[in-house]
Parts: sequence; structure tokens; C-alpha cells
Amino acid sequence: MKLRTLAVGLMVSALALTACGREGSPSEGPAVEQPVAENVQVAGSPTFQKMTERGRVVIGVKNDQPGLGQFDPTTNTYSGFDIEIARLVAAQLGFSADQIDYVVVQSAAREDAISRGDVDYYVGTYTINDNRKQRVGFAGPYFIAGQDLLVRASDTDITGPETLNGKRVCSVTGSTPIQRVREEGLTQNIVEFQTYTLCVDQLVQGQVDAVTTDDAILKGYAAQQPDQLKVVGKTFSEEPYGIGVPRDDVALRNKINDILQAAHDDGTWQRIYDETLGKSGSPASPPAIDRY
Ligand code: GLU
Repeated sequence: MKLRTLAVGLMVSALALTACGREGSPSEGPAVEQPVAENVQVAGSPTFQKMTERGRVVIGVKNDQPGLGQFDPTTNTYSGFDIEIARLVAAQLGFSADQIDYVVVQSAAREDAISRGDVDYYVGTYTINDNRKQRVGFAGPYFIAGQDLLVRASDTDITGPETLNGKRVCSVTGSTPIQRVREEGLTQNIVEFQTYTLCVDQLVQGQVDAVTTDDAILKGYAAQQPDQLKVVGKTFSEEPYGIGVPRDDVALRNKINDILQAAHDDGTWQRIYDETLGKSGSPASPPAIDRY
């Protein structure tokens, strides 16, 4: 069983690698149908102009976060809450689902990918903070998560951040949770990878004692292996998720905030949530948008 999980994991990583992170368009319809807006103008947005000339939108996402952003190589489709938010924005900018190119960008590479223009915008459990705002812009937030801990189901030692001392804790390079573990000195024993999937494999195999990141992400992994894994369920931060855009493209940031606000007001956000994260998680309502 363990070997099979590992083999599937390796296959998925190999696929992602051979495709250089760029996958084809989804062959299945989205969870929530999005009408495509017509005659959209975003005056003064160089990114929108690039999209329009290209006739396609390039969106940075994650591909291994169940419920949020997940790629299924058997159906060649992406699914999850972040993906639906990404599609909502694309549709309101005038791009249909088959005009989207997804590019997988891991946590540590997001600011570079956005500022270089490798992606037009990014939707993938991306916490808004002042440090990142020096390099990119953020629309949103469209969701508020909180840092939590994933442990083996049999574990009775780890009950919160204050019990991590001396434990081996795994997280991802360039993420806010790994930074918090370091800054607060929760443990000296930190194991670092590029993806949470690699951390979860290590946890199941007994190589680390806990994986830490946002509760929304960890709940997805726990749901995949409920006999092996559990989420501690005591959050110790606020992680407001934003849509990353080029820092100086204020016109695009404003437009995406308008799109999110409309989706909050007309119930689209709620439908997206209920069809994705809400199916396994708890009820939630849209957070207030923070225009800056
Ligand atoms: N939301 C946190 C962050 O942006 C953790 C999740 C992630 O790595 O994407 O760093």
C-alpha cells in the first residue's frame, strides 16, 4: 500500500516535470458554470493587454493540494476552490475555460514567476503579507485560512504549536508557516521540501512527526488518508488568501477586486465554496476585500 502510494506520487511528479508545469486545457467542465463576460476593458493594465493580444490567460496554480488546486492526470483536469476562483476571474476578464493555460508554481517561486510575467496572475493558497507586497500585488482576500498541524492518526504527543519542541516538523520552502516555525523557535528540527506532498509522504513513512501549513491544505491530505493522518485543529495564525498580480498593475488588481466583490455579493463565491472546500470542511462566508 505504501509502495503504491509512493509510485503514484512519483508518477504524478514525473508527469508534472515532463510537462514543464504547463498542462493542457481541462477536458471536463468546471464545478460552477461561469458565464464569460464580453467586451471587457481594463484601462491601463499592461497584463490585461498581454492576455488580450495572446487570446489566452496564463494562471499560476498548485497541482497537489486536494480541495484547493489539484491536477488529475487521468482526466487531464484541474479542480478545487482555488481553481474555481481562478476560472471565475478569467471568465469575468472575458476568457473561457478553454482559453486558460495553467502553470504550476510552487510556494518559493511565486514572487519570481509573477514579477517576471511568467503568469498573468496566481491563485494558490497565497497569503497576503507586507513582505510579499514589496514584490507583487494582491487582490482579495477571497478566503482566510490558519496555520495548523498534520500528524499521524496514532499520535497523542502533538496537540498544538507549543508541543513541537524537539519534534521533526516538515514544511515548504518560501511559505509563511515554515517562516513562523523558525521565527517563533517552535522546534529546531525543521525538514524542508518544495511541496507539501513530499512532507506528507515523509509523515506517513515516519520520517517526520508533523507537517505544518494552512488548515485548508492539511484537511485535504487528511481526507485522502483518514486512517493514517489527522489535523490537530488548533490554528495559530491568520492566512488571508490573495490573488497575486504584477506589483505595478494596479488596474488589474482593482478589476480583480471588483470581480471578487461581485462574486461575494451575488452568491457565486458561496456556490464555489460549497462545491469544493465546503464539501469536506466547515461552512464559511467570504471575507471583506482589502483594497490598498
Ligand atoms: N498560505 C501559506 C503561504 O502562502 C502556506 C501555503 C503555501 O505554501 O502556499 O505561504
